[in-house]
Amino acid sequence: MLTQVAAAQIHGESITEAATGTTQILTILHTNDIHGHIEADATVSDGATIGAARYKSIINSYEAKGNVLVFDAGDATHGTNFATLSDGENIISLMNDLGIDGFVPGNHDFNYGFTQLKKLQSLAAFPVLAANVTEDAAGTDPFTSNKIFDMGTYQVGVFGLATPETKTKSNPLNTTGVTFTDVVATANAQVAALKAAGADVIIMLSHLGEDAASPINTFTVTSQVAGIDLIIDGHSHTVLPAGRQEGSTMIVSAGEYMQNIGHVEITVDTTAQDVTGITANLITFEGSQAYAADPAVAAKITALDAGNNAVLSVVVGKTATELDGLRQNVRTGETNLGNLITDAMIAESGADVALTNGGGIRASITAGDITMGQVLTVLPFGNLLTVIRVTGQDIINALTFGVSDYPNSAGKFPHVAGMTYQIVLNASGNKVANVLIAGVPIDPAKTYKLATNDFMAVGGDGYTMFAGKEQVSLDGSLADILAAYITKLSAPTGALTYVKENRVAVVLAAPTAVPTVTTPAAADIVQTGEYDGYTMQIGIALVLTAAALVFIVEKSKKVSSRK
Ligand SMILES: [Zn+2]
Repeated sequence: MLTQVAAAQIHGESITEAATGTTQILTILHTNDIHGHIEADATVSDGATIGAARYKSIINSYEAKGNVLVFDAGDATHGTNFATLSDGENIISLMNDLGIDGFVPGNHDFNYGFTQLKKLQSLAAFPVLAANVTEDAAGTDPFTSNKIFDMGTYQVGVFGLATPETKTKSNPLNTTGVTFTDVVATANAQVAALKAAGADVIIMLSHLGEDAASPINTFTVTSQVAGIDLIIDGHSHTVLPAGRQEGSTMIVSAGEYMQNIGHVEITVDTTAQDVTGITANLITFEGSQAYAADPAVAAKITALDAGNNAVLSVVVGKTATELDGLRQNVRTGETNLGNLITDAMIAESGADVALTNGGGIRASITAGDITMGQVLTVLPFGNLLTVIRVTGQDIINALTFGVSDYPNSAGKFPHVAGMTYQIVLNASGNKVANVLIAGVPIDPAKTYKLATNDFMAVGGDGYTMFAGKEQVSLDGSLADILAAYITKLSAPTGALTYVKENRVAVVLAAPTAVPTVTTPAAADIVQTGEYDGYTMQIGIALVLTAAALVFIVEKSKKVSSRK
C-alpha cells in the first residue's frame, strides 16, 4: 500500500526536485459526515451518493499509482437504517473493507452510547484517533491520540481531535464520565510530540467544523496552533472544492453523505524533511462514475441489506384505522398520525408539550399490522427526541410561524400534543389564538418543557426561536420511540385506534368578513371552536366553517396562480 511514487509521475516544478530523488507525493483520500450513507444512490437529484463500493475502486486506483492514506473525519456510523439497525457495526465493517487508515469519532458516533462506541473501536481495523478525549473513571485515554505512518523516506504524523460539542450534540448520557480537554493545548502538545518523534508531515484529523455557532471550531485551532500542514475536517458538512488555506495550514472537507470524495496531494521534500506543496480537490459523484463498483463491497452491502430487511419486517403493533401521514394532510393540518407521534414524544420524555413538523412525517400507515420498516418509512431521518426549555411566548411564536403559510402546504406545519391552538385566518398574516396547555391558557412569561425533534430544536425548518434554548434532554430515535408506543397501545385490545381530536382549529379573524355560503362540507378539514375567549353558537360556527373553506379555496387559487 505504501509504495513510493516514481519520479516521472511528478508534475511541474517538482520534476527538477524529483531528479535529485528528494521529492515524494503523498495522496490523501478523505470523507466526513457520511452519516451512514454508505450505499450508492443516484436517485437523489441534489445529492447523489457515491457509496462504498465505488469508493473502494477509487482507493484501489490511487493505490496502484503511489502512496495513499485514507481518512474519515467523523459522523460515519449513524443516520440511516442501514447504519442504525446494527448500531453502527455495518459501517465499521465496510470501513475496514475500504482500508481506512484513521477515523476521528464525530458527535453522532457517540449516539449508540459510549460503550458501543468502544465496541465499534474494537471492531475497527484502523485507529480511532482522538487526543482530547479522556475517560474519567479509568483515568486513561479511551482512544488513540495519534499515529505515525512510515512512508519509507518520510514520516506522516496524524492526530485526532473530537468536538467538545459532543456533550450537547449527542445525548448527554453518552458522554457521562468523559472529558473533552482543551483543543488548543492538546493540538500544540500533539504537534510537538509528533515532530519530536520524527514526523515530516503533520495532519490533524478533526471533527470540529467551521460553524461560527460552534464556540470551539477548526479556526480555534488554526488561529492558535502552528505546525499543522493539513487539517482533514468534519462536523459542519462544509464543501471545500479546493480546500481552504489558513496561514500555513490547508483545511479540507468533503461535504456530507459521501456525495464527494476529498483528494489531496502533498509534496514532501525528504531531504529538507518538510512539506513543499499541498493541493486539494473533490471527486464528485459525476467524477466517481468513471470507476466501476467494487464487486466484493457491493455484494457485502447487498447481503447486509438482506439482514436489515429481516429487522424491518418485524411487526411492532397493529392499527384499526389508517394513520394519516399523507403529505398534503400533514402539511396543512392535524392528523391522527401527527397526534400519535407527538403523544409518543410526551409519553417518552414527560415534557409539558410536544411540537413536530409535518414535513418530518413522510408516509401513512394503512390499517392492519405495523412493521418496523413502516415506522422507519414514516420517520426516516433518524431524528432524535429532544426536550428544550422555552417560554410561552416562544411557543406562541413557533405556532404563529408554523401556520403562516396555512392553508397552503408547508413542511413546518406544527403537530402538537399537550396543547391545543387555533389558527386565526388573516390575509395579512395568520395568527394563533386560544393556545391551551393541559386545558389552561398559555402564560407567555412561564417556561415550559417542549419536546421536539433534534432538527427543529436547533432552529431547523425555520424554527429559529428554538435555537440556543437550554436542552433538558436528548433522548432516543423518534422512530424507536414511536414503535415502542405503538406496541404499548396495541397490546390491550390487539390494535390501536387513533383519531383527530381538534387539537388544531381554524377560525376567521373577523366575523364581519363572513360571506354568504351554503356548503357546510368542510367539517373534517376545518374545525371551529372558541375564538378569543368567547364561545360561538353552533349556527355561527357552521357559517364560519363554510366561510373558512371559501377563504382557503380562494387563497389557494391565488397562490397557485402565482406559481
Ligand atoms: Zn458532527
